Amino acid sequence: MSNCKVTAICNQKGGVTKTTTTANLGIGLAMQGKKVLLVDIDPQADLTASLGWPNSDALPMTLADIMEKTLHDENFEHYGAILRHDEGVDLIPSSIELSGMEMSLVNAMSREFTLRNYLELIKHNYDHVLIDCPPSLSMLTINALAAADSVIVPVQAQYLPAKGMTQLMRTIGKIRKQINPNLKVDGVLLTLADMRTNLARATAETLRQQYGSMLKIYKTQIPVAVKAAEISAAGQSIFAYDKGSKVAQAYAEFTKEVLADGERAKNKPAPGR
Ligand code: ADP
Ligand code: MG
Repeated sequence: MSNCKVTAICNQKGGVTKTTTTANLGIGLAMQGKKVLLVDIDPQADLTASLGWPNSDALPMTLADIMEKTLHDENFEHYGAILRHDEGVDLIPSSIELSGMEMSLVNAMSREFTLRNYLELIKHNYDHVLIDCPPSLSMLTINALAAADSVIVPVQAQYLPAKGMTQLMRTIGKIRKQINPNLKVDGVLLTLADMRTNLARATAETLRQQYGSMLKIYKTQIPVAVKAAEISAAGQSIFAYDKGSKVAQAYAEFTKEVLADGERAKNKPAPGR
């Protein structure tokens, strides 16, 4: 049995910092000594670009190739697509070709399990796999949720995402019923928070009241900061780009919360035993 935990960073809304959170949580975990694989399953390839590979279409192998070969049961080098980032994480890059997969998947057998089947082959090498989802509830997102043990949902603290959250929770409920009964929601991460404004404070408060009993809302909130928006062009994490900043501190705190949850889960007996 592998001890690897697979987590999808998921929200069908764009611009809520899924990609930024995947990169910085991943590198945060690596800084704590964990072996981490990041998987970019968004055809826009923002995670791939933000880690320093802006021309992912020129890469010899990407997730699109992996999924294509897995889907058709073809042989391929299982580690052939993995890129190594300077800050200690591995990455399976995406490319625009992945948008073509959407159509191939619609008509394929075991289509929901394509990513999961591939990850089963390699995940024993890692403590954590983090999957950066596209801003949709597409077949690619379903593949991510089918492969995941848990979901982290970044939510923008500036506005009340009640409707979007309901939709996402409904999708997660369906996935649990039909394809992945063990899928857990680890928690909601409030991001882009400008806590000087009443609106952000009120939104955070309302979210805690409305969802706090059903869902964990992480204590850490990620503040809004211009430097944080610059890291994707720099190909670095916030820890390397602006060490000591509020955003770097927040991602370090968030990483600790995620690790503490993992420890608690390990000490609990497995369900049904
Ligand atoms: P998603 O993957 O959900 O679409 P991104 O991670 O791409 O979201 O983030 C959306 C935008 O916000 C990007 O331009 C990113 O650089 C910027 N951004 C991310 N984190 C912060 C932050 N803490 N403060 C300000 N801007 C941020
Ligand atoms: Mg993104």
